[in-house]
Amino acid sequence: MAKKSKGKELQEALTHKWKNVWEVIEDDEKEKVFEINEEYKDFLDKGKTEREAAQEIIKIAEEKGYISMDEIIEKKIKPTPGTKIYANNKDKSIALFVIGKEKLEKGMHIVGSHLDAPRIDLKQFPLYEDSGLALCKTHYYGGIKKYQWVTLPLALHGVIIKENGEKVHISIGEDEGDPVFFITDLLPHLAKDQMEKKMGEGITGEGLNLLVGSIPFKDDEINEKVKLNVLNILHEKYGITEEDFTSAELEIVPAGKARDVGVDRSMVGGYGQDDRVCVYTSLKAILDVEKPNKTAVALFVDKEEIGSVGNTSMESKFFENIVSELIYLTEKNYSELIVKRALANSCVLSADTLGAFDPNYPEVLDKLNAPYVGKGVTIVKYTGARGKGGSNDANSEYLVKIRKIFNDNNVVWQMGELGKVDQGGGGTIAYILANYGMEVVDCGVALLSVHAPYEIASKADVYMAYKGYNAFYNA
Ligand code: MN
Ligand code: MN
Repeated sequence: MAKKSKGKELQEALTHKWKNVWEVIEDDEKEKVFEINEEYKDFLDKGKTEREAAQEIIKIAEEKGYISMDEIIEKKIKPTPGTKIYANNKDKSIALFVIGKEKLEKGMHIVGSHLDAPRIDLKQFPLYEDSGLALCKTHYYGGIKKYQWVTLPLALHGVIIKENGEKVHISIGEDEGDPVFFITDLLPHLAKDQMEKKMGEGITGEGLNLLVGSIPFKDDEINEKVKLNVLNILHEKYGITEEDFTSAELEIVPAGKARDVGVDRSMVGGYGQDDRVCVYTSLKAILDVEKPNKTAVALFVDKEEIGSVGNTSMESKFFENIVSELIYLTEKNYSELIVKRALANSCVLSADTLGAFDPNYPEVLDKLNAPYVGKGVTIVKYTGARGKGGSNDANSEYLVKIRKIFNDNNVVWQMGELGKVDQGGGGTIAYILANYGMEVVDCGVALLSVHAPYEIASKADVYMAYKGYNAFYNA
């Protein structure tokens, strides 16, 4: 073999190249990549809303021997290293704990993601009839591009709670035989005025009305016959009346299952991958943890997409309260100071998605600092907008710790940022946990078409997120 040139040697020693996962993993690990993604697609299909995903997490956790916090408190069970606990916050946010060998006071290793995803909600008095059609008024949830949601088969998911307390679970549009719903769009022939509008204005928020029926109830003595017929069908099927919509949470999401993408099946296309890709991978990662040094926590919160507000969001006291309960159960003398120490000494991976470099839109990302599909789990030092505004800018001392954990465990990772300077930006739950004094860095999967009805993830990145979170828990 010819001797390497001095420059070549120096280049290898000094410069850094991000790796493509597919090029560095062996065949047996490649098999694992595809295996995990089959489970991942199944998880996406079963949890298309925050409630459904929360329910699925509890089901899986219980199967793996996790005990509910309510049971722990009620039976005064003293958690010991290896005890697995789940806490359920109003069926919309969940925390899983695997108690570590070290005291809670020494801090936890937390991976935090969000269960909610952009969607379209029915209004509280939605149903009306116009020109022989029954429709529902809606209010979109989170940041959507409205034009993406028209002429697309949609499913209706959610709960209706009747005055007698009965909770009716709704899921229409997912089974082969189910009907689906649509939001209509204008035919191109008559869209002259619409097409001249800006993309953000061509389809309006109040224009996102869901088509739900067109057969009139046969009775000459009444008006709004189509609306009545819809109400009658709903009443026969679910026992509900129009007033019951006022205490309902009904969410419209794209109908259908997650699919493989590409002739090489290297990617997953599906709804709600922001942030259920991080939900699933951190769930899978904690399920593989038995007796960690630091207590391992997988935190799944709601309402991130609307600013982490409300009692199921990261801003709520839910997590802090559960940690207090655990301190109360594990310490001889409970004190708030121990709770504060447990929180302040914790380390966090804020597990969320970001936009991957898209060759169709190269102008919005800095090629040198953009995350790429297939180059592993992405670490994001700062998010924010216009001069890092609103960002949790992770500390170098912490970044190096995560970098070392990943390198020591053959986790393929890359650095990424949310976009070019002054191009826009966004946030995650990172800054909220950082308020406790925890070390926090964003670390998740870069997607194509973020917040679109169908988002795309690389299977390799999904796998590396799992591997990275698992290494973090076991560190
Ligand atoms: Mn997100
Ligand atoms: Mn988002």
